[in-house]
Amino acid sequence: MTVKEIVFTVQTAHELDIKDITPQVSQAVSKSGIRDGMVLVFVPGSTGAITTLEYEPGLLEDIPRALERLFPKGLRYEHHERWQDGNGHSHVRAAFIGPSLTVPLSNGRLTLGTWQQIVLCDMDVPARERKIIVKIMGE
Ligand code: ZN
Repeated sequence: MTVKEIVFTVQTAHELDIKDITPQVSQAVSKSGIRDGMVLVFVPGSTGAITTLEYEPGLLEDIPRALERLFPKGLRYEHHERWQDGNGHSHVRAAFIGPSLTVPLSNGRLTLGTWQQIVLCDMDVPARERKIIVKIMGE
């Protein structure tokens, strides 16, 4: 088994910015030379999240609205009371989606659905430069 790691960065512009990172992940997979195995995509940071989505304008509105319904920004958060950094809701949202995703790799291709992209969701309040770690394991 071979293990390769490729790291890239993504600049987000605002809170709840959702970026399609499928092209960068696919490029990392091609570069690795590994054709069968697992691809792990991870964002370091407790206000970043990785998931999959059909990357189209409707859902780019629906996901932030759903997160606001589930975890409203205006509630009292103990994290904010303690640290005064105004992002208690960001941490809670990120914890529920999670910081990583694993995709099976078969015949040199990510086995994603036709309308399924890998996305970074930045839950933090200010714009951020996010590091994305891609770990490719296989042969
Ligand atoms: Zn915080």
